[in-house]
Amino acid sequence: MPKYVYDFTEGNKDLKDLLGGKGANLAEMTNLGLPVPPGFTITTEACRSFLAEGALPEGLEEQLSRHLAALERRMGRRLGQSDDPLLVSVRSGAKFSMPGMMETVLNIGLNDESVRGLAKQAGGNERFAWDSYRRLIQMFGKTVQGIDSELFDEALERLKAGRSDLDLQAADFQGLVETYKEIIRAETGEDFPADPYRQLRMAVEAVFASWNAPRAVLYRRQERIPADLGTAVNVCSMVFGNCGMDSGTGVAFTRDPGSGQQGVYGDYLQNAQGEDVVAGIRNTMPLQELEHLDKHSYDELMRIMEKLENHYRDLCDIEFTVERGRLWMLQTRVGKRTAAAAFRIAVQLVDQGLIDLDEAVTRVTGDQLAQLMFPRFDGGAEKKRIATGMNASPGAAVGRAVFCSERAVELAAAGEAVILVRRETNPDDLAGMIAAHGVLTSRGGKTSHAAVVARGMGKTCVCGAEELEVSAEERRFTAPGGVVVAEGDLISIDGSSGEVFLGEVPVVPSPVVEYFEGAPVGGDELVAAVHRIMSHADAVRRLDVRANADTGEDAARARRFGARGIGLCRTEHMFLGDRRRLVEDLVLAGGDEERERALAALEPLQRADFTEIFRAMDGLPVTVRLIDPPLHEFLPDYTELSVKVALAGDRASDGDRRLLAAVKRLHEQNPMLGLRGVRLGLVVPGLFAMQVRAIAAAAKAVPGTRAEIMIPLVGAVQELECVREEAAGILAEAGVEAAVGTMIEVPRAALTAGRIAEAAEFFSFGTNDLTQMAWGFSRDDVEAAFFSRYLELGVFGVSPFETLDRDGVGRLVRIAVEEGRRTRPDLGLGICGEHGGDPDSIHFCHEVGLDYVSCSPFRVPVARLEAGRAALTCAGSDTR
Ligand code: PEP
Ligand code: MG
Repeated sequence: MPKYVYDFTEGNKDLKDLLGGKGANLAEMTNLGLPVPPGFTITTEACRSFLAEGALPEGLEEQLSRHLAALERRMGRRLGQSDDPLLVSVRSGAKFSMPGMMETVLNIGLNDESVRGLAKQAGGNERFAWDSYRRLIQMFGKTVQGIDSELFDEALERLKAGRSDLDLQAADFQGLVETYKEIIRAETGEDFPADPYRQLRMAVEAVFASWNAPRAVLYRRQERIPADLGTAVNVCSMVFGNCGMDSGTGVAFTRDPGSGQQGVYGDYLQNAQGEDVVAGIRNTMPLQELEHLDKHSYDELMRIMEKLENHYRDLCDIEFTVERGRLWMLQTRVGKRTAAAAFRIAVQLVDQGLIDLDEAVTRVTGDQLAQLMFPRFDGGAEKKRIATGMNASPGAAVGRAVFCSERAVELAAAGEAVILVRRETNPDDLAGMIAAHGVLTSRGGKTSHAAVVARGMGKTCVCGAEELEVSAEERRFTAPGGVVVAEGDLISIDGSSGEVFLGEVPVVPSPVVEYFEGAPVGGDELVAAVHRIMSHADAVRRLDVRANADTGEDAARARRFGARGIGLCRTEHMFLGDRRRLVEDLVLAGGDEERERALAALEPLQRADFTEIFRAMDGLPVTVRLIDPPLHEFLPDYTELSVKVALAGDRASDGDRRLLAAVKRLHEQNPMLGLRGVRLGLVVPGLFAMQVRAIAAAAKAVPGTRAEIMIPLVGAVQELECVREEAAGILAEAGVEAAVGTMIEVPRAALTAGRIAEAAEFFSFGTNDLTQMAWGFSRDDVEAAFFSRYLELGVFGVSPFETLDRDGVGRLVRIAVEEGRRTRPDLGLGICGEHGGDPDSIHFCHEVGLDYVSCSPFRVPVARLEAGRAALTCAGSDTR
């Protein structure tokens, strides 16, 4: 029988798979001797079983009773005991934090009798006891019984009639309990369950089930969290932040998660319970003020924070409660942070001697680096500031104001940039937050839902801009000075300073990009941190990084960004625009003479193109791929041309008729699988030869050039042999040395790689084509057609065009690497599909032992960093 329940004294921080993040860290804090209220964790394994079977697994109830009995013994009171009740909270806690996405129920164990026992425990504080009871019914009704939370909120608002929460008396809450019970009766047809054990059991099941709530599913997809992990459930004895002004609850960070600065950061709310802070319902006070309210608790909190940071060797975030002057730790974890903070903190920890540079490189990600490369607002531009809130998540966002999630999604789908403006956000706003460029709220602190979620997504967010009066109903907000911003009006928000501007503020490049472009490191702390981490990543990585570039300008940028060569120069891209006509002439040529003429026109252009690139790369390797034009991209559209000729009737020109006949002959139903790449090279005499001559001439013109000639779409060694022989002759005649290799982008090439390597000096994996052909779906069409449904169904967690599908396409890559190297041990190996710039795929490339990845110039720094991280973290089954 699996062990489904772990006491907090039994777990530790490394058991996140089983106990979830929250449970594992509660156990770790318990073991560190910190003041954690006693409790236990029900495992993710139990959740997975519940979700699969629709019922709690056998044995769980018995284990649950045993652990509860032990907890009751320890606390000296029984769950819901009428004169002196033990109350517990039931909280979700998955391996990866999903803020606010799943459910929590507090105060379990209260009923009409134990509420009086609670009042007694609290020194006769009736108000507190009835408030706790009504909160239980409210959370239970919403979470466990699925009742619309508005019904409870409205009842509370009616009762308050303009008063604040703090004005409500015990009798008010007692009345509210009755109202809430009536809501439950009306909505479910049953009474609120008075039996504490039944409450507990139902709450556990509801938390398990909340793993599959729509917003949790959406969040996981966005954050690429696997769908099958399940959540753990933490059952923890209750401590109360809402039993008077000497109590309260708060959230703290050991450093500023926005900037990385060391110091005291957090929010505190007096006389409040758990969720009030995170939900941003009441405005909080800065944590520093706790020092004046309760110096003893504050000092202890500071000591604990230091201990936690030294123990975890990282920024921690913390939830705590003060119950009548006594501090309790409710949660800690390695905290989410902005991209800039991640880099700064990593080097600060190195300087403090807590981690080494190797570890610092693993503490940041390519995605974070990419975020730092986004532009920011132009400091010199004229701006009309209308409010300043908290700088919750950095970046510069410009867009049209929208006031609800649905509208944000709608306008974003129509291609508009939008800023979602809310009084406060809640988990139901998630879809709108994903769709928006930025998020602006008028209430809530840096730890409010909006702030936490936006930071996690790397989305610009300003929160708690209290000067703004936001009215979602009227779809507008007002700012001081009578400024009114209605839905659709342009605003700009600066997540680094917290400022809100009217209209569109121009943006400028980021200093990190300027650094990559060659600007000196200077005094900018962030740039200095990026520089140190990148230098170390470069020192430890085994993978080389090249760029996909087809022009001298791109090649030069790629070099500045640190590319050590070009992994893919697509020559068909040289024939877009005006030059497209020349390829058209060539493919449609009626006879040898016409073809020769077209080739003669192309050759000098190609020579000049290659010369420019070879110059820019100055002796670094340049892989030139011979032309691979999917014909539909280069020939006139068949349907359009047919219509034109048909409409012209007898007046149609001879040229048009001939063109139509040729296009008809070459028309393909599925052009991505048609006359492309090497196939075209073998069918149109002289085409590849012209390109090889141009490469040879350009290489001669730029001494030191290391040209590599790459043949596309090869599926059989015979194809490659034909081209190779011709190319070898041309190169020998020109007296130029160049390696000749092939792309591996047709499954058959991967499966016969041992043979193909006999004729290839290098392989470069064209994983765009390899993905479409391995899956049998067209890269041009499917993403829009049905990928969203496939993602929803969990067929894959992320598009295989974005992240390499290790099991399928990756297997083909592995076969080709192993068999290719068996034939030719010094075979060069790289990747030039889009996956070459994707972090997870780069780790895969490292593992299978490729020599380099090649990606777009702007992704080069990301690839360098991820290659370094891969060297430090991957299994590294280097095949050499
Ligand atoms: C590929 O197929 O992965 C590739 C790089 O070639 P292209 O995208 O030009 O087809
Ligand atoms: Mg391809």
